[in-house]
Amino acid sequence: MQKFETIIGLEIHLQLKTKSKMFCSCSNDGENQKQNTTVCPICLGHPGTLPTVNEAAVKFGMKMALALNCKINQYSKFDRKNYFYPDLPKGYQISQFDEPLAEDGHLIIETDGKQHRFGIERLHLEEDAGKNIHKDGQTLVDFNRAGTPLAEIVTDPDFRSPAETKSFLQDLRLIARYLDVSDADMEKGHLRVDANISLRPKGDTELYHKTEVKNLNSFKAVEKALLFEEKRQKELWQADTPPQFTATRGWDEAKQETVEQRTKEGFSDYRFFPEPDLLPLKISDELLESIKSSLPELPHAKQARLATEYGLTEKDAKVLVAQKNWANFYEQTLSDLRAWVYKAEGENKNAEQSWEKNKDKLAKLAYNWLSSELFGLLGSNFNFSRLKITPENMAELLSLVYKKKINSSAATTILAQMFKTGEDPSDIAERLDLAQIDDVSTLSDIVIKILMMYPKQVEELKSGKEALLKFFVGKVMAESKGKANPKKVEEIIKEKI
Ligand code: ZN
Ligand code: MN
Repeated sequence: MQKFETIIGLEIHLQLKTKSKMFCSCSNDGENQKQNTTVCPICLGHPGTLPTVNEAAVKFGMKMALALNCKINQYSKFDRKNYFYPDLPKGYQISQFDEPLAEDGHLIIETDGKQHRFGIERLHLEEDAGKNIHKDGQTLVDFNRAGTPLAEIVTDPDFRSPAETKSFLQDLRLIARYLDVSDADMEKGHLRVDANISLRPKGDTELYHKTEVKNLNSFKAVEKALLFEEKRQKELWQADTPPQFTATRGWDEAKQETVEQRTKEGFSDYRFFPEPDLLPLKISDELLESIKSSLPELPHAKQARLATEYGLTEKDAKVLVAQKNWANFYEQTLSDLRAWVYKAEGENKNAEQSWEKNKDKLAKLAYNWLSSELFGLLGSNFNFSRLKITPENMAELLSLVYKKKINSSAATTILAQMFKTGEDPSDIAERLDLAQIDDVSTLSDIVIKILMMYPKQVEELKSGKEALLKFFVGKVMAESKGKANPKKVEEIIKEKI
């Protein structure tokens, strides 16, 4: 059986979350406003109006381009892309054609444990169109989105599977979020993806007619549509009837298949020409340098640093960086834990040593508590600005666990309470009487009471049925309402038997 290779390239539209639109001063928050309220003569394309370039949009585009390792063109220009559609009142879109803002980038990402390099052909700026709303047999147009700044990112045809395409897009979204240039929410259309896919016999280096898949509004849809298309085209090749022209197909979520839409216009159909109402975009050395130095630590760098600095596994570090807020909360918690260690040592010479000695254990403890307990309470769409737990209180809770002042079931109870009220963990521990019982004589009393209640099991344990040890520890824990120190309880039971 002949083998085939899949070739995928992407065209990505990323909505930039500037305050105002690309070429006018209208609010760029139209998606949350009543229809046709964030509009003006400029974005409605009235004759005689003049566009002005939004400086913030240029800066956002530059940030994204630099994060994708692109070369910024310090001279670029805007062009008109002419086409007719009801949601485009001017009859053309202002875009960048032959001289884009940035070119020649790449992104290295890890898929199946290997590093892959995906080329970025270009990133250019343009304006979004309005939205057609089809309702009750009518079509209405909402122009709130008309003029929203977009960064269009075009990749090289470097993807060889739907899965790696999806990973790339997830990384791209994360970068946009770290840079704070876009919410990059696919479901809300902030990140829109068209995927070009073709197949070729393995070993062949030619590029054959591709299909452009549209209407992909989730990562899952991207992967599923590409898997479907890969299979469909493979069958065509196997039947000796490979695609004969370049086609556009839309993903039909209900049918779970791609559906032919129309044959694609060639470039010439758009009759691009330079936008006469805008000067070319010139970027000074100073601006370029200031944008470069303003870039925050990006997810990959953060992941690597968390792993080396705190001895976390790459996998754990990846969980933390998956949400910028989580990574920040984790780091702040650790810095407060460090302050706690220093305070406990009385700020002397030993403090640094003590921190170094305990750091990896504390980092792991913090990771475990955040990833298994706190993030569970938050869920993935939690609005962090409403979080009542401060990193300082989180650090205090962890220090109580670390010092064995409370056991883990008490800590879980306290954390849930902190989440609700934002109270201080030691206050909660005191109020709910959750401090761990460490006192040997108190624990011995409880152990003796329990042992007397289960004479048969005591005999079995004595004769070597080790599993019963857990049974007794459990009974003592229950008797103490979860406050007993389980390690000490176990020791005492062994001693008494
Ligand atoms: Zn406007
Ligand atoms: Mn575009």
